[in-house]
Amino acid sequence: MPGGNRLTAPGAGLDGADLDRTARAVVAAAAAWARDFVAGRAEDWERERRFAREAFDAAAAAGFTALTVPVADGGSGLGPVALARVFEEIAAVDLAVAFSLVCHNNLAGAVSRLAPPALRERALPALVSGEKIGAFLLTEPDVGSDVAAIGLTAKRDGDDWVLDGDKAWVTNGTAAGLLSVYAQTDPSRGHRGIAAFLVDVPADAASAAAAGVVREDPYPLLGGHAAGVNGITFRQCRVGDDDLLVPPGEGFAAALSGIDLARVLVSAMCCGMMRTALETAVDCVRRRQAFGARVADFQGVRFALADVATDLEAARLLAGRAARALESGETAALAAAHAKKFATRAAERRIADCMQAMGAAGARRDHPLPRHLAMARLTQYMDGTTEIQNVVIARALLD
Ligand SMILES: Cc1cc2nc3c(=O)[nH]c(=O)nc-3n(C[C@H](O)[C@H](O)[C@H](O)COP(=O)(O)OP(=O)(O)OC[C@H]3O[C@@H](n4cnc5c(N)ncnc54)[C@H](O)[C@@H]3O)c2cc1C
Repeated sequence: MPGGNRLTAPGAGLDGADLDRTARAVVAAAAAWARDFVAGRAEDWERERRFAREAFDAAAAAGFTALTVPVADGGSGLGPVALARVFEEIAAVDLAVAFSLVCHNNLAGAVSRLAPPALRERALPALVSGEKIGAFLLTEPDVGSDVAAIGLTAKRDGDDWVLDGDKAWVTNGTAAGLLSVYAQTDPSRGHRGIAAFLVDVPADAASAAAAGVVREDPYPLLGGHAAGVNGITFRQCRVGDDDLLVPPGEGFAAALSGIDLARVLVSAMCCGMMRTALETAVDCVRRRQAFGARVADFQGVRFALADVATDLEAARLLAGRAARALESGETAALAAAHAKKFATRAAERRIADCMQAMGAAGARRDHPLPRHLAMARLTQYMDGTTEIQNVVIARALLD
C-alpha cells in the first residue's frame, strides 16, 4: 500500500465493518483490555508457568466471560464474526489468555444452549459472572482425534452415575470449577453411548479428591502456560441425572457441534498474532540500519514481509468467510477447516519470518513474538489437528 502503513486491506473478511454498535464496543473494549491489562503481564505468566488467574478475574469484571450467552441471560450475545474479532484482538497480545477465555465462553454458550432448565439455572449465572471457570473435557491420554473412542466411563449406580477415567489437555483445568466431561455410558454403542456431564468441582484439592476429582499439575509446555492446561482424573466420581448436560446418544454430536466456531476462533487468534508480528517487524526494520541503509530497504526483507502481509490477508479472508457462514446459519465445516489449516500454518511460518527480519532482536522476550511463535505451533493441535482439517477438506473433495 504505497505510502501507507495499513497491514491489511479494508474489506478483509474479519474487518467486522458490519458489526452493530454494541459488538463494535465489545471488540474495542477487548482490544483496550488486552493492551492495558494483559500486555504487561503475559511474559510473567509464561515465565512463572502458571494459570493467569488475575487475567480471568479481570476479564470477568469487564464482561468477557459471557460473550456467547444471550443478552437475556446476562451475556453479550455476540455472533461468530464479533467473537472472532474479540479473540483476534486478545490473541494479538496473548493467545493463551485468549484461548482460556474461548474455552470458558464456549462452555457458557453450550450451557445456555443445551442444558436442561434446572441445570442451566444452577450453572449459568456462575459462568456468566466468572465466579466459576469453565472447561471442556473431551481428549484423553490415549484418545484425541478419534473422539468416538473415548474411554472415560459413566456407569449407572442406582439413581447416580459414577465417572471413572482420565482426561488430558484440559484448558483451564488447573483452576476450572465447572467441567463438561464427555463420558461413555455404553461402550457397545460406540459414539451413540457418549453423554456429557457438568461436574461442579470444589476449588480446594482435598474436597475435590473426596468428590473423586484429582487435578494434575499444569503440563510443562512449549508455551501457553497462562491457559492452565493439565490432566484431570475421575475416580468413583458420583454425579446425578440433574448433572447431565447432554444425554447419552447426543454427546458425540454435542461435542462436535461447536467445533466449527472453535476452529474459526483459532484462525482469528492466529491472525491476531500474525498482525502483531508484522507490526513489530515493520517497526524494527524501519528503524534499524545496516550497510548504510535501513533494513527496510533491503529487497529480501521487503519481500519477506510482503509475503507475511499476503498470508495475513488470506487468513483473515478465510476466517471471515467461515465466521460469516456460521453467522448466517450456513454449513461452515469446510470453510472452517480451510481457515484453520491455513491460518495456523501461516502463523507459525510467518511469525518466524518476522523474527528473522528483525535479526537476533526477534528472539528477545521483550516483545511477544517468541510467545506467539510457540502458540502458533500449539494451535496446530487445538480443536482438531491440521491433518484432521485435511480429512474434512479431502472428504468434501473426494467422497
Ligand atoms: C494447548 C492445547 C489445549 C487443548 N485444550 C483442550 C481442551 O480444553 N479440551 C480437550 O478436550 N482437548 C484439548 N486439547 C487437545 C486437542 O484437542 C488434541 O490435541 C487434538 O484433538 C489431537 O489429539 P491428539 O493430540 O491426541 O493427537 P492424535 O489424535 O493422537 O493424533 C496423532 C497424530 O495422528 C494424526 N491423525 C489422527 N487421526 C488422523 C487421521 N484420521 N488422518 C490423518 N492423520 C490423523 C494427527 O493429526 C496427529 O498428527 C488441547 C490441545 C492443546 C495443544
